[in-house]
Amino acid sequence: MEISENIKKHKEELGEKVSLVAISKTKPNSDILEAYNAGQRVFGENKIQEMTEKWETLPKDIEWHMVGHVQRNKVKYMAPFVSLIHAVDSLKLLKEINKEAEKNERTISCLLQIKIAEEESKFGLDAEEAKEILASPEFQKLNNIQVKGLMGMATFSDDEAIVRGEFDYLRSVYVDLKKKHPQFEVLSMGMSGDYKIAITCGSTMVRIGSAIFGERNYN
Ligand SMILES: *Cc1c(COP(=O)(O)O)cnc(C)c1O
Repeated sequence: MEISENIKKHKEELGEKVSLVAISKTKPNSDILEAYNAGQRVFGENKIQEMTEKWETLPKDIEWHMVGHVQRNKVKYMAPFVSLIHAVDSLKLLKEINKEAEKNERTISCLLQIKIAEEESKFGLDAEEAKEILASPEFQKLNNIQVKGLMGMATFSDDEAIVRGEFDYLRSVYVDLKKKHPQFEVLSMGMSGDYKIAITCGSTMVRIGSAIFGERNYN
């Protein structure tokens, strides 16, 4: 397993249209630096504390994405530096992100997570809830956040038809919302096991961990 080779291979495969978030959760700084030295600048983590520790010690031109479920009381730790929060699933959380962004004199980009998988364990909004949030007067008052699109996680399944159906559905929700919200530009879908399907379904951003860094022992 060669991290730098994996980065190069994936970048070539994804081309210009699909951006790569290298998911470095549980991996040491040395692995991240190897990817960095191969040209990767965008990394994703699923725990705020771990991401903050890595941000403190690693090169400052890295863009950090939070891809995991976010607890409101921890938003303040990443607000000074996070560049995209993928899994926003409530107006309450958007308000908290807006408040902390304002304190840091920043605008923080977010994606709304849509629940597309069958599994109960997965978080997210349904399409109608996302629509309501985006249309609400309360949301429109939030000047320090920008919702740039949607994120979703498909069911872990070998049945390609299930995964494809879920990604197709997410893409249709994205296209529909984009009509009213032209600022939408990111459709974050696809992980190591399903990114090829996600790309054929219109993904613009894939989140790839184990196919770059190797298997994780936990998480
Ligand atoms: C861990 C994780 C990934 C990457 O998973 P791999 O299967 O290792 O590519 C992508 N998205 C989210 C939200 C994750 O938590």
